Amino acid sequence: MKELNIENLRITIGDQEIVRGLTLRVPRGEVHALMGPNGSGKSTLAKVLAGHPDYQVTAGKVLMDGENLLELEPDERARRGLFMAFQYPSEIPGVTIANFLRAALQSRLPEGEELEATDYYARLYEKMELLGMDRSFTSRSVNEGFSGGEKKRAEILQLAVLEPKYAVLDETDSGLDIDALKTVAHGVNSLRGPDLGILLITHYQRLLNYIVPDYVHVMVGGRIVRSGRKELALELEERGYDWAREGAVEPAFR
Ligand code: ADP
Ligand code: MG
Repeated sequence: MKELNIENLRITIGDQEIVRGLTLRVPRGEVHALMGPNGSGKSTLAKVLAGHPDYQVTAGKVLMDGENLLELEPDERARRGLFMAFQYPSEIPGVTIANFLRAALQSRLPEGEELEATDYYARLYEKMELLGMDRSFTSRSVNEGFSGGEKKRAEILQLAVLEPKYAVLDETDSGLDIDALKTVAHGVNSLRGPDLGILLITHYQRLLNYIVPDYVHVMVGGRIVRSGRKELALELEERGYDWAREGAVEPAFR
């Protein structure tokens, strides 16, 4: 039951059905890669998990540790332990990373409970140490003039500090530069563990050279066409998405 359970999910936008019966389970403690060609609906799935209002869920359900995620408001999903990478605000001039993260943590506490400054900085610096990040980074303004790698650093630090139960990382199809790629990989590899389930969405096999997932799922045309262990990513690299699509069986995955 400690899992993010997506069952037979169907998502439409306008009159177009984009996700067409998707079933996927991410238990806590595992890293699942979701791969697929451009336009297969990966980001649409991520946006619906985050609670984006433009998309309609027409069938299926999403349970987080048994709880119906889709009936919760976006901020409530976050408070219950769902982390979405792309939700990081684009730029907040004048707000330092340290203060931003503090506010984010504070907002997740029950009403009336105060986050002590000393506790907060202890936690922040402990996470930075774990991630091998320089402390001076937290005095920068959020995303202001950040390189791709620095944006990813801020995102990974946020993930570390918030300690969610599940993280959905949607890596853009435009690709990551090598610094950003290594930051994400190092971050995920440092943070993966029994308390965190990770859904790593990527178009790029290359990322999986650095992060070895427990399971790989291939999404084509709005549904999972293949699931397997890490070797599936290599096979996919060799044979391409057309192979994955051909002769694919219905999601007979656990
Ligand atoms: P992926 O992330 O796998 O590349 P997306 O989820 O971004 O795929 O897109 C899947 C399909 O849904 C595409 O055909 C895209 O054009 C369509 N789509 C996504 N968002 C919207 C939107 N807001 N309005 C119209 N069509 C959309
Ligand atoms: Mg996408």
